[in-house]
Amino acid sequence: MSLNHSIDAYEEAVDLMPGGVNSPVRAFKSVGMNPVFMKEGKGSKIVDIDNNEYIDYVLSWGPLILGHSDERVVKKLQDITAKGTSFGAPTLLENDLAKLVIDRVPSIEMVRMVNSGTEATMSAIRLARGYTSRDLIIKFEGSYHGHGDSLLIKAGSGVATLGLPDSPGVPENIAKNTITVPYNDTDSLKLAFEHYGDRIAAVIMEPVCGNMGVVPPKDGFLQDVRDITEENGSLLIFDEVMTGFRVGYHSAQGHYEVIPDLTCLGKVIGGGLPVGAYGGKREIMEQIAPTGPIYQAGTLSGNPLAMTAGYETLSALSKESYEDINNKVDKLVKGFKEAAEKFDISIHINRAGSMVGVFFTDEEVINFETAQTSNLDYFAQYYRSMVNEGIFLPPSQFEGLFLSTAHTDEDIEKTIKAIHKAFQQIEK
Ligand code: PLP
Repeated sequence: MSLNHSIDAYEEAVDLMPGGVNSPVRAFKSVGMNPVFMKEGKGSKIVDIDNNEYIDYVLSWGPLILGHSDERVVKKLQDITAKGTSFGAPTLLENDLAKLVIDRVPSIEMVRMVNSGTEATMSAIRLARGYTSRDLIIKFEGSYHGHGDSLLIKAGSGVATLGLPDSPGVPENIAKNTITVPYNDTDSLKLAFEHYGDRIAAVIMEPVCGNMGVVPPKDGFLQDVRDITEENGSLLIFDEVMTGFRVGYHSAQGHYEVIPDLTCLGKVIGGGLPVGAYGGKREIMEQIAPTGPIYQAGTLSGNPLAMTAGYETLSALSKESYEDINNKVDKLVKGFKEAAEKFDISIHINRAGSMVGVFFTDEEVINFETAQTSNLDYFAQYYRSMVNEGIFLPPSQFEGLFLSTAHTDEDIEKTIKAIHKAFQQIEK
């Protein structure tokens, strides 16, 4: 496989942009490769600028649950684009997407659209602080909630992939308002509340962690967090930027039947365009300007193109779509396990709906500490071999892979063959 054009493009890009990329996880550093430059995608496949075709399990880091260039989405986008790209005034498209979100996400009675997951979490944190008149927040180690100052503390995703410490540039005065505890550890959370209880505005959490690899909640953990926050007058914020409309038709909160006060959304809700949203109880949401005093705004928020891509994507998803994707995930997970057994590679697989995390370890992965027991050298070898076989995966141990409705049984079979080859070639 030739990647010569990607190598040339990268050489040019590193001079133009830090690391040659506009988001650090695209850099491929941790797997010992240069970034692969893409030019087009259709269904489950993407094509790079050297004309290599891949089965794509990155899906733009989660949003493309229908696969690339879904005809329904593209057609509506073309129609809408011809009528104007932004008005700075309300449109019916915003009502349509808001109704759909309120209908589907159990905790959301009112919603505010923003432009990214980061904006959603930053805004939800401000709202929680304003609403409770408290400053402290709790997050879980290895979870990632975007790059807002309050949330870049012991973070996962690219921060973990690149082995960076807590980011320089976050003032100590802000960092000290964020308390971190291990995920899936009710006792540590209780202890934090014993110390700081009446000062904690909110606990923010990914209901399924997707930024330390995939780590689902242990039985009862989400309910424990719900009970503890309620007892202490703190809000519970589910960051469903990754899990929203992915883990299930009613998102993770519907799947696990635990209802937070506020929910952050991103990725799938934008169908591949830049969208985020936050929503929750009416009484809390009405504290946002212009009905309330807590300020948050956006020139392009509720953008017609973004609303259209989100609406068409969510409309195309039925409960059966999720069953269908899950069946394909079952096959893929089975393939991983069989290959691991055949070639005597220790792996631990976590999975929630169509989010899958493969760790090269004997340990059960239940939090950031156990996620870090994964053999990163094995991961990098496996990764490079998969790319060679035309399988495109997130270039990081600390990210999950995603499936779409567009993935076919043949895609899964081809992927399983590639896994066998990759595991066979791992040098121990
Ligand atoms: N929250 C979670 C759980 C995420 O996975 C991400 C991004 O990966 C974010 C927030 C930030 O979203 P964005 O990259 O759209 O700002």
